[in-house]
Amino acid sequence: MAVTESVRGGSPGTEDARTAHEGILRRQSARESAARTYARALPIVPVRARGMTIEGADGRRYLDCLSGAGTLALGHNHPVVLEAIRGVLDSGAPLHVLDLATPVKDAFVTELFHTLPPGLAGRARVQFCGPAGTDAVEAAFTLVRAATGRRGILAFSGAYHGMTTGALAASGGAPDVRVARLPFPQDYRCPFGVGGEHGAELAARWTESVLDDPKSGVPDPAGMILEPVQGEGGVLPAPDAWLRRMRRITADRSIPLIADEVQTGVGRTGAFWAVEHSGVTPDVMVLSKAIGGSLPLAVIVYRDELDAWQPGAHAGTFRGNQLAMAAGTATLAYVRENRLAERAADLGAHMLRQLRRLAGEHACVGDVRGRGLMMGVEVVDPQAPPLSGDERGVTLGATARSPEEQPRPAAPALAAAVQRECLRRGLIVELGGRHASVVRLLPPLTITDEQAAAVLDRLADAMDAVSGDRALADRRPPGPGRQGDRSSHAD
Ligand code: PMP
Repeated sequence: MAVTESVRGGSPGTEDARTAHEGILRRQSARESAARTYARALPIVPVRARGMTIEGADGRRYLDCLSGAGTLALGHNHPVVLEAIRGVLDSGAPLHVLDLATPVKDAFVTELFHTLPPGLAGRARVQFCGPAGTDAVEAAFTLVRAATGRRGILAFSGAYHGMTTGALAASGGAPDVRVARLPFPQDYRCPFGVGGEHGAELAARWTESVLDDPKSGVPDPAGMILEPVQGEGGVLPAPDAWLRRMRRITADRSIPLIADEVQTGVGRTGAFWAVEHSGVTPDVMVLSKAIGGSLPLAVIVYRDELDAWQPGAHAGTFRGNQLAMAAGTATLAYVRENRLAERAADLGAHMLRQLRRLAGEHACVGDVRGRGLMMGVEVVDPQAPPLSGDERGVTLGATARSPEEQPRPAAPALAAAVQRECLRRGLIVELGGRHASVVRLLPPLTITDEQAAAVLDRLADAMDAVSGDRALADRRPPGPGRQGDRSSHAD
């Protein structure tokens, strides 16, 4: 039975279905690792999915705003993706080919190069990596170290690039990581207490001074890696002017700039690649998640002058997943042909406006931010006094911002409660940010207006529930898409 796309939460299934669902969850918690992540906060057992809708083993339906941690640009089981996968399966092509040439790979590279920012497209090389974003990050570091002969890496506070550093450090003969940490600009929790352009300017100046100070203690950098929008760090879009400044600073010092577009790529932020918002051309781009059309695939693309590494400098068995390449080709082409980046920009701007309205109604929302369909709502403690500059050890902020503009302490328990209440209402959201207090929305780019309205409704209802603000909830007039269905999953 196919899952039909729906904006309504499905009713719980039969007794048998619920028993099967609970049994699977019980066995999972008895047998799987204590390090499991999403499974803890989202006790669901997906059995079928289409588009934005997931159906659980208990018969309930959910709107999926997690999208495989930002992987599913076209949602679950999009027809063009399924057709591409079936095409490979039915063709008799080998499924495993290491890094050999195949027609499927040839088509993927052609489509990928078609999408690249103009400054890179004409002179790009691609390296296929092990199938996770983290392996492509390692490849980028190896590449720039080989090309520059330097070892240091410049990275930013709050960044997330993957989990393999420990494994690398533990490997025989592995170099030190030698990462120098620089401030990433952000408005709400600006490290300098001022936010806005001024905060970004100070962050850039700090970076410049660190690089030019012979006594800064920072090892000679082989590259600078940044996310154009920090995802796991709490949905923090890098200001375009700051990104251009980073480009200038690195170019002036011959430091390759690595854009980690693992999460921001393929239309997610309202441009095909998020660096396009600023017009910056990086030297290296790290790509994964959506480029595999829901299957594992990771690559780096880079300026051909950097291609100075040796054969085997970055190897791996699983670099030839033909199904992922075919699914990825179909996804890249579909996003491009259907102008889904523009759709993400428009709908994302609309949803952000709605979320800001919601923030006005809930004291527990400290900040709303995002770009395209990568959105975040920071949950704070409404009872706690705002953090003053002094309390954060930053005196500059105390003078530069009014008390109302001061950030409040993060409220991870409240954010987790919002996530739970969303799930009860048939909405899957992710938590992220420094303190796991940012509710993250990463819907597929194919989300309809009706689904977007349902997402906002369910989130509003969940916020009402945790705020205990029933009076407000009851007063708010039904808006477009409000279902009056605020407890479709409440037992
Ligand atoms: N870079 C970024 C920006 C990411 O968001 C992630 C994953 N969330 C990674 C790298 C690592 O990717 P993976 O989990 O596939 O290793």
